Amino acid sequence: AELLEAADEGLRYVRVNLLCNTVDEAVKKFANDGFELVGAGERQRLVRGARVFMRDEHLRDLLVFAPGTEMHAHGMLADGSVVVQDKASCMAAHVARPTAGTPAIDACAAPGNKTSHLASLMGGRGTVFAFDRDARRLRTLVEMTGRARCTTVQAQCMSFLDVDPLDPRYAQVDCLLLDPSCSGSGMAGRLDLLVDRYVELRQGARSKEDTRGRLASLAQFQTDALLHAMRFPGVQRISYSTCSVHTEENEEVVAAVLAAQDEFALAPRQHVLPTWPRRGMLAAGLSEEQADSLVRAMPEDGTNGFFVAGFVRVRQPDVEKT
Ligand code: SAM
Repeated sequence: AELLEAADEGLRYVRVNLLCNTVDEAVKKFANDGFELVGAGERQRLVRGARVFMRDEHLRDLLVFAPGTEMHAHGMLADGSVVVQDKASCMAAHVARPTAGTPAIDACAAPGNKTSHLASLMGGRGTVFAFDRDARRLRTLVEMTGRARCTTVQAQCMSFLDVDPLDPRYAQVDCLLLDPSCSGSGMAGRLDLLVDRYVELRQGARSKEDTRGRLASLAQFQTDALLHAMRFPGVQRISYSTCSVHTEENEEVVAAVLAAQDEFALAPRQHVLPTWPRRGMLAAGLSEEQADSLVRAMPEDGTNGFFVAGFVRVRQPDVEKT
């Protein structure tokens, strides 16, 4: 019961699916359904039990509801008008800045929250190539993007590391979102992870060495996947995200990738949620300015723990190398 209670805490975020309605239209529908829209200065009214909501101050397609608001039975969720998605998880697609009409890649896509967000921001124009190596999770992606009326998603069950960057199908792709497997250490309130944690406690907690080894192998995969993403010659922008709070999977991966190639640099803060206050940590190999261009989110911010980095191409690919 305590686990369920913990998983139920926190603000409810609802992302407006721009394929079905504008934000203004969604706001009207909620208002017609008895929810009161409150202004930015009235955040304190978002208390458990209150039927109030507000527009999010950082993400233009996000609405914020009071903790405990029951959304799952709401008609707007069932018909795809909105998607329940944590605010921090919504940051990744915004940092990718997809272009309507130009294809994009979601490299580790299932269950598809960010795939459907990319399609929404692209206004349903331009293919979103979605890869995941887990067939069961990819089936969920197909279901959930179908419910969100994303007709532009092409899902493929394969390892992103095996996708050929020089395949002509991806030549026009200009933006890539990479949200790879991670430790999930930022998802303190998520029920499935709480259950894992419960099982772990019953079995005896992992030793520090186990944890360090696991983080090192995740970081290696994350680095390899990011470097692979940078080999797609048309890609101009990459959004890298994790739901981890560990620097090993976040700033340290960014530093390793910056040191390993010279075609991509970090996007400046002005393109990476500039008004969001919590920025990256000053890990070895990063300047203060670079850390400042990274985004972190923590439960204190009313979100899951999360990390996002934006990369931009600064040098065209070396044709000899590709
Ligand atoms: N972006 C997803 C979303 O927002 O719904 C969540 C992605 S989850 C954090 C990481 C995903 O990466 C998992 O579904 C996992 O199966 C997938 N994955 C792990 N290794 C992969 C690989 N080599 N190629 C493609 N997908 C991979």
